[in-house]
Parts: sequence; C-alpha cells; structure tokens
Amino acid sequence: MTRIARVELSAYRKPYRRPVTNGRYTYSESRLVLARVICDDGVTGTGWVPGGDVVFHAAVEMAPLLLGEDPLAVERIWARLYQPKLVGRRGLTTRAISLLDIALWDGIGRRLGTSVHRLMGAYRERIPAYAAGGYYEEGKGLTELVEEMAGYVAAGFRAVKMKVGALTLAEDTERVRAVREAIGGDAELLVDANGAYSTFAARAMARALAEQRVYWFEEPLTPDNLDGYRLLVRDGCVPIAHGENEYTRFGFRDLIRAGAADILNPDAQVLGGITEMRHVVSLIAAQELCFAPHGDQHIHVHLAAGLPGGLMLECYHERVTGLAAEMVVDRLELAGDGTVAPPDGPGLGVRLDDELLAHHLERSATVPV
Ligand SMILES: [Mg+2]
Repeated sequence: MTRIARVELSAYRKPYRRPVTNGRYTYSESRLVLARVICDDGVTGTGWVPGGDVVFHAAVEMAPLLLGEDPLAVERIWARLYQPKLVGRRGLTTRAISLLDIALWDGIGRRLGTSVHRLMGAYRERIPAYAAGGYYEEGKGLTELVEEMAGYVAAGFRAVKMKVGALTLAEDTERVRAVREAIGGDAELLVDANGAYSTFAARAMARALAEQRVYWFEEPLTPDNLDGYRLLVRDGCVPIAHGENEYTRFGFRDLIRAGAADILNPDAQVLGGITEMRHVVSLIAAQELCFAPHGDQHIHVHLAAGLPGGLMLECYHERVTGLAAEMVVDRLELAGDGTVAPPDGPGLGVRLDDELLAHHLERSATVPV
C-alpha cells in the first residue's frame, strides 16, 4: 500500500504595495505557509494557509505524525494531529492542522484523478461569487470607494462586500449609503466590521444597515461575544454572519446552539482543514442554516459548491490577498450570471507560480530531514 514518505514546508512573505485596513487591523504584507505531502509513489498534494512562523513551526512539529501513514486516512490523521493536550484546541496550531489536511485532500484528488469538488459530493456545479473589498486605505475617500465597489458590479459580480468599523457610526453609515447608491438596487451589499463594535454600537449599526437593504452584517462583534450575537440575531434588523474566527466542530456547535448567527462563514484554512469542514457543514445543515465560506476562493470554491448549504463564495482581488491570489496561475472565471465553477482538474485543480513563490521564500523545512 502507498504510504506518506515526506512532507515539505515553506513559508513566504511579500509586502503589499499599499497597506489595507479593516474595522480593526492594518495589513502591510501577506504571509503564507505551504505544505507538500509526498507519497512513496511520487503522488504529491499541496495545501496552503495564511500564516507566519508559528504556523510554520507548528506544522514542522506535526509533520512526523504523517510519515508512513495511508494518504487516504484523513480522519485518522486528523484525530492524531488534534490532540487537545499537545497542540491546543483553538488558534494557530489548528491552522497548521488545516494546512496538512488540505494538502492531503489535494493529494487524494490527484491520486484518483478527481477534483475535491467531486470528492465532496458535487452538490452543485456553480456557486454565486461576491467581491470582497471596500477596505480603508491611505488617501481613499468616498469617491475612490464608490468607484471600486461599482467597478466590481461592472465586472459582473452580483454581490459586493465592504468594510466598516474603523470610523464613527455616522461616517461609516454614509460610506454604506454612498456605495448602495452607486451599485444600484439590484446588486447585493454585504458589510463586514471584523469584530470592531461593542454590542450596543452593533445594534445601532444594524438598524442603519437595514435602511440600506444590506444582505448580511458580518462579524459585528468579537467571536467570543455569543450573547451579543444572540441579541443581534433576535433584533432581526439584518442577517448576522460570522464564523471566520471559529474553530472545529466543537466551536461551531456552541455558536449554532447559542443561536448566534443567521449565516455561517467557516474557513477551512482556519477551523481544521477540509476533513473538519465536512463535520462543521453537517452541523450547519442539521439546523437548516447556510454557509458562505470565508477566505481563499481557490480552496473554498470546491467546498461551497461541493457540499450542501453553500450560499456564496468570497472572492478576493489579489491587491487584498497578495501572494495567495497571485501565486495561482489559473484564476477562477466569473460567468455572466455572477457565478464561478470549481476547476475540473485533479485535487484543488490549481497550478502554482513556482518562480514567484521562490522569489518570496522566507524559510523551508523537509520532514524527515
Ligand atoms: Mg470577514
């Protein structure tokens, strides 16, 4: 039987041309950790997650647990990596599990000559996409914001997302109003605060957003404020979405049980990989809720379309995500109806620009050495 023979890990760093800011944080560079899981017959699976040194070194520590394993035994490998006492139950170590698990799934697809989308169950062939942008930037006023957001709609997106939370409620309400006016009544408008608000400010903002017919209000509060989220959901002004900072089936169980979201935003690169994403999506389906995955579109297109309950796919412009979008040779193509389809090639169906990656390599390790 085929066995896993080697794991190669690489960390990359590339500065942005201009820093971007959301409701709480400013990003000036993109950092990425990439894993290649190589079997004794040469079949190789590749995964990647956003992250720096902690994720890289956690993955180096975990990689020996894969050696000699059956590359199809994703559940057994996941259980071994997720040893609560050894690695912590939430946080950057879970991101390292995600990294190795995503590489395993790409490898399974390559071994079987099948896309991850079909391995998930090919629930639908296409999925509506939305453009994630509308960040704060130095020198970016209302005019530039409105131009950017209307540009996404002109490019064929039927839904767009913008940031709030870094300015006063009055100033951000004005930004949202201006964007709604610019994109017209047909496009859906999503608003993301990245956890910037207190509960009372979020409740006021939700009322203001309802007037602009906002499709969802994303992460108004910090991820652990489940009581605040429950209040917002009960207010019912506007659908509440979150989950991009939640981990594993256990975190999503608590979030769903608390009635703390209308729409879930699980991220396979964060919560524990594709294996764990399937468990999370089952919990979501059991409540007849739906999900719109957060993050990397080239990984999540397979999950949003492959699993039941997928609502929409977040699509980033490379100006915002940096390397993770730039390194993909064959980008997703937006159709005239505002949808995208998962690539049909084996695994994640992604070819990477090795030359670009080599240029931004920060460190690498091979297990076994
Ligand atoms: Mg978000």
